Amino acid sequence: MDPYLTDLLSVIHSTPRPVDEKLVISAWEFAARAHADQFRRSGDPAISHATQVAKTLALWNLDTTTIISGLLHDTVEDTPVTLPELETKFGPDVALIVSGVTKISTIKLIGSTQDQFTENLRKMILVMAKDLRVILVKLADRLHNMQTLKFLPLEKQVTTAKETLEIYAPLAERLGMGEAKGQLEDLAFPYVYPSEYARLISQISPLVSSGQKYIEKFRRELHLLITPSFPGALINTRKKHLYSLFKKLNRPGIDGDLSLIHDLFAARIIVDTKEQCYEILGLIHGKFHPVPQLGISDFIALPKPNGYQSLHTKVFGPGGQIVELQIRTHAMHEEAEMGIAAHWFYSQAKTRGVANKTLEAGVFIPQKKLAWVKQLVNWQADIKDNSEYLNALKFDALQNRILVFSPLGDIYDLPKGATPVDYAYAVHTKLGHQTIGAKVNSKLVQLNHQLSNGDLVEILTDSKRKTPNSDWLNFVVTTTARRCISQVSK
Ligand code: MN
Repeated sequence: MDPYLTDLLSVIHSTPRPVDEKLVISAWEFAARAHADQFRRSGDPAISHATQVAKTLALWNLDTTTIISGLLHDTVEDTPVTLPELETKFGPDVALIVSGVTKISTIKLIGSTQDQFTENLRKMILVMAKDLRVILVKLADRLHNMQTLKFLPLEKQVTTAKETLEIYAPLAERLGMGEAKGQLEDLAFPYVYPSEYARLISQISPLVSSGQKYIEKFRRELHLLITPSFPGALINTRKKHLYSLFKKLNRPGIDGDLSLIHDLFAARIIVDTKEQCYEILGLIHGKFHPVPQLGISDFIALPKPNGYQSLHTKVFGPGGQIVELQIRTHAMHEEAEMGIAAHWFYSQAKTRGVANKTLEAGVFIPQKKLAWVKQLVNWQADIKDNSEYLNALKFDALQNRILVFSPLGDIYDLPKGATPVDYAYAVHTKLGHQTIGAKVNSKLVQLNHQLSNGDLVEILTDSKRKTPNSDWLNFVVTTTARRCISQVSK
C-alpha cells in the first residue's frame, strides 16, 4: 500500500470516530489517479497535499464525507474530473462540499478593490452557509498550504499569509476552533510582520528554556497535590501561541513589556466534571496563593462569546513566580480546541442519519453558534450596498464580541462597543423601538453607554412609543440596530 494512504489510515484508526475505511481507500485511489504526474512546488506529489488535508480533517474527528471531500477537494479544479462524476461515485454531499471548496478557492480576497473584495466575501459566506463542512475542508487546506508556503514566490507568500490573518484565522476563531486559529496565525505571522517576528523571537528565546523547565517543575508539584484526590485528572502544560503573544504585547497597558505577560507558559488541568473544576481550584488556592488583582476568571459560569469555558487563575508558584493555571472538563477542552468540529462529532452521533444539506438542518451545531452565519446570509439578500455589507461582516461577525445577560438570564452575543440600544434591537425590534432608558447591573446608564462582557442589561420602555430616535444612529454599532432605526425613522 502507498505510504501516504497507510499514513492516513493510521491517523483514522487513532481517532474515536467510526469512519468507512473502504470508501476512504477508494476515494484516495481515485484522487491519486486523478492527480498522477502532478507535483507541488515543494517537489512532493500532489496527492501528498490531498492526503494531508484529509488527515487534518480526521484529526478533527470529522465524518467520512468530510474526509473524502478533503481527499478530492482539488480534483475538479486541477484535473479533468467533473462534479457529476464525483456525485455518481461519492454522493451528492461530497460533490456539494468539493464544489464549495472549489468556488472559494477561485475567490480572491486580497489584492482586489474593496468592491470586489466584498462581493467575493459575500460569495464565500453563501458557499459556506450551504454546508459548514465546506469551510472546515477549506481551513484544513489552508493549514497545509501555510505549512508549505515557503516554496511559493515571495509575493504570493505575503498575500496568502495576509488573507490567512484577516479572513481564515478569524473565521476559525468564530467557529470556536482555537487550535486551528492559533496554528494559522503562527504560520502567517513571519510572512506578514517579518521584522516584528524576528524581534519577538530574539526577545523571548532566553525566557523559553527557563520557562519550560519551570512549568515542568510546577506540573510535577501539581501532580503530587491533585492526583491523590483526583486520580483521573490530566495535568499538562502549554506554550502561548506566538502571534497571540505578539498581539497581547501590543495592548495598551502592556506596551511591549514581557514582564507583564504571565501566561507564556501555563499549566492545564483537565477533569471529568464541572464540580471537580471548582474543587481543584480550591485545592490549588490552598497551596499556592492567588495573585491579588490579577485574580481568577470564571469562564465556566461566564463563557467567552465564542463559547470558550474554563477556570483561569494566576498563582504564586514555587519561588514566587507568577503562573497561570487553566482548569476545565474534557468536553470544554475539546470544544476549546475543536469548536464546531467537536459539535459535529457529538451531535451527529446522536442524530445519525439526519441529512445536513441546508443551514436549517444545522441541528449538528447549537443554533446559537450558527446565528451569525444565518444573519450574514439574510443580509446578503437585504443589503445591496457593498461597503455596508463589508462593515457588517468585518465588524459584527469577525470582531471581538461580548456576552451580556437579559434580566431573565438569556445570553446575547454582541460586538465590542455595543450599547443598550444595540442590545434592545438584538432582543426584539419592538423592544428597540420602545426604549426610553436602560439599566446596566442595576444602575441607570445613558443609552450610548458601552456595554462590557458579563453586563446584566435591562431596558426601560414606553409601550406607547412606536418609533425610534434617529439620534441613536450616532452611537449604535450593530447592523441590526442601524437598519431597524433607519428604516422606521426615514
Ligand atoms: Mn488544496
